[in-house]
Amino acid sequence: MDNAEIAAHLEQLADLSEIAGENPFKVRAYRAAAARIRDLPTPVQELLREGGLEALEQLPGIGERIATKIVQLLETGEIEALRKLRERVPVGLLDVLAIEGVGPKKARAFWQQLGITNVDELERAARAGKLRTLPGMGERSERKILAAIERWRAHQGRYLLPDAEADMRRVLAAIRETGDAHRLEAAGSLRRRRETIGDLDVLVSASRSDRIMEAVRALSREVLGLGETRAAVVLRSGMHCDVRVVDDRSWGSALHYFTGSKAHSVALRGLARSQGLTINEYGVFRLREDGTAGERIAGDEEPEVFLALGLDYIPPELRENRGEIEAAAAGTLPVLIERADVCGDLHVHTTWSDGRESIETMARAAIERGHRYIAITDHSARLAMTGGLDAKRLREQWREIEAAQRSVGDAIRLLRGIEVDILEDGTLDMPADALAELDVVVASVHSHFGQDLETMTARLLRAIESGRVDILGHPTGRLLLRRDPYAFDPERVFAAAKAAGVALEINASPLRLDLSDTLAKAAHEAGCALVISTDAHHPTHLDFLRYGVDVARRGWCERRHVLNTEPDPERLLARLHEGHR
Ligand SMILES: [Zn+2]
Ligand SMILES: [Zn+2]
Repeated sequence: MDNAEIAAHLEQLADLSEIAGENPFKVRAYRAAAARIRDLPTPVQELLREGGLEALEQLPGIGERIATKIVQLLETGEIEALRKLRERVPVGLLDVLAIEGVGPKKARAFWQQLGITNVDELERAARAGKLRTLPGMGERSERKILAAIERWRAHQGRYLLPDAEADMRRVLAAIRETGDAHRLEAAGSLRRRRETIGDLDVLVSASRSDRIMEAVRALSREVLGLGETRAAVVLRSGMHCDVRVVDDRSWGSALHYFTGSKAHSVALRGLARSQGLTINEYGVFRLREDGTAGERIAGDEEPEVFLALGLDYIPPELRENRGEIEAAAAGTLPVLIERADVCGDLHVHTTWSDGRESIETMARAAIERGHRYIAITDHSARLAMTGGLDAKRLREQWREIEAAQRSVGDAIRLLRGIEVDILEDGTLDMPADALAELDVVVASVHSHFGQDLETMTARLLRAIESGRVDILGHPTGRLLLRRDPYAFDPERVFAAAKAAGVALEINASPLRLDLSDTLAKAAHEAGCALVISTDAHHPTHLDFLRYGVDVARRGWCERRHVLNTEPDPERLLARLHEGHR
């Protein structure tokens, strides 16, 4: 069991304890421990092996009681306290908790006072107008909950990239351990780097499959189908996983086939037919007159599949039938940006607002990752819950940035920045003279998401045209699987951003991925500059850059479209300020 799985158990322990009405200090301790374990760079198993229970207890936020629970989980596969809670608290309430706007306190009230134990019952109660009988609830909150339930249903069975990757790592490791796999790769939407993942597809080439199938079965909580060449299972996380075993000769065509997307494959098959060829998972074949497959001409390796059709190699991220086949035929596919092209991070939080570590710690973590620069962009004062900065504290922060710069040396350039709130009317939550002294001004919407399209568009335009903003942060405000984008007109916003020289952020946090792939494409096609930033609140979040690069690649971005591919901080700042400062 890895750290993410341990953290998920502790998180559930916290949620169920809170719904059960247990001591708030205990609940908070579970939650803190979950966060601590999730961010731990070393696997807990390894810590225990090397330092025993003591090593675990010595971690900040993990006392003896929680350490014992973790050991219990690793030894028996469950935490006794969690098992008991599951008997007392209806497990369906965990789904209720996943509804946006419902926290543990509300879930408890629904359960205790209205007898609600799952989402269906919550929906019925909201429709019947029963929720408004609870204190603090009204007709409006009922409507909000119904809308949130609808969104939750639409997202059911989809997973964020890090969760899908964690499951995929487990499956690949288990298959690799059999020693029977010649070649092994993640296919499907995970290989195409879609923003959320529905199920996992794994491709293996091997000459025997029995031990591989057994390894997959051992990871599952339910087997949907198990044959010699295919296993379909539900993993412990609830995620569906399909494993295909092929022989070495079919590797290339099978990898293409199981990578998809369906729309891409259908279009490619059409092209093949028009050339007197046919493609399936076994290879590319000449079509006989009677319509059956004849001589096999390609398929050992994936690039051959494209070559056989007269196409350039199409990277998996582009395989959505959004013009990539035509571009591959014309030789005009983009040279996609890569992670190594990105030289720094322009959206980083510290303990000056809601980040978890100091400026210097974040700087050192960025140096470890090879960054040439990072912008320290803590929140402005309006986000009071994050301890945001007013002009006075902002200036105090500059002294600490300077001190941190002296301390870490010139391996990295620390840029003075802010993530300033775009207020309800489009004004900025910081005086202009303070903003003018900053290297990097990221401006973001964090409130009044419900404004209508006209109001929100005008609000964004006002911020963009203020002459104070360098980057529009997480431009649509969405939270994947949680909150839809706010209503606004991307066309007008992109046109204004281009005119003012304001860059649009691809927020690389896997909870956001905002801009999305299609909007990122529309933005650079409209002539806007992009940046890829992590919005890191912890040193490990600096690694999110690669998710932002995934989005950029799916959005057909080349290196030249993304400003923070510039290695030199001075030249970067000149580009960032161009057109409005
Ligand atoms: Zn933000
Ligand atoms: Zn932020």
